Amino acid sequence: MRFSILSKGDQKSDVIKGRMEQYLMDFSLEYDEKEPDLAISVGGDGTFLEAFHRYQHRLEDTAFIGVHTGHLGFYADWLPDEIEKLIIEIAKNPFEIVEYPLLDIIIHPASKGETKRFLALNEASVKSTDGTVVMDVLIKGAHFERFRGDGLCISTPSGSTAYNKALGGAIIHPALNAYQITEMASINNRVFRTIGSPLILPKHHVCELKPLHHHKSFLITIDHNTDSYSNIDTIECRVSEKKIRFARFRAFPFWKRVHDSFISDER
Ligand code: NAD
Repeated sequence: MRFSILSKGDQKSDVIKGRMEQYLMDFSLEYDEKEPDLAISVGGDGTFLEAFHRYQHRLEDTAFIGVHTGHLGFYADWLPDEIEKLIIEIAKNPFEIVEYPLLDIIIHPASKGETKRFLALNEASVKSTDGTVVMDVLIKGAHFERFRGDGLCISTPSGSTAYNKALGGAIIHPALNAYQITEMASINNRVFRTIGSPLILPKHHVCELKPLHHHKSFLITIDHNTDSYSNIDTIECRVSEKKIRFARFRAFPFWKRVHDSFISDER
């Protein structure tokens, strides 16, 4: 089996990366940065997101696992002092796989220009670089509302515990093939009206965000990467056909992870 390890780059993560690399090669596993069967991230959830985007072109062939060197992460959920146990499990292979849904984001240009396509593990968020975001929201091709406010966040089930949660969105179990739209400070008064609640949409319900003014520029963040875009006709969002595959070596149920991250890590 071929593996790669991505470190956050701090001293602690680099040391753990070095130790894991050595142990796994001692077990005759091959280090392959380009085409790993298993991508290991060492750091935090941000490092895991980076590993995901590095190998997003080969999700059918690369499984992921995360070791955390700071606080417990949602994706990075192995402790540094568990790595010997983890190495033995990896070396024994084959491993069990757990799949989580992803989000497809397509940005269609208003006039000549490239269509851009992204995969998100956590979410896509849309904000404005100057003033209020004004966008029509369409669901399954039908006009739903005209949104005015700070922005919108479109998240996956596993991303529902991240930015989405801070915006008052619901936590969705990743066994559900769904995605969620949450508002950021919408303007609501007698003139302007939005639904005001997070929306949870099933797989086949496509959502389109259409800026009212094509010349406006928007900050679009896909997981941990932000870029500025203008000349946007539509931002199309849907549950992707692709899934992320986690290598599972021990049970760590989603609700236990939610409990340990947000309530307490004591019983
Ligand atoms: P970062 O270092 O600022 O990390 C933000 C925090 O989000 C970290 O504590 C990380 O552990 C946590 N996180 C990431 N994914 C998570 C998930 N699926 N469930 C629960 N917690 C999660 O930024 P980064 O490391 O580059 O991560 C980018 C992510 O940060 C984005 O995908 C977004 O979800 C999140 N974020 C959160 C807020 C907020 O909570 N107000 C604001 C901006 C971005």
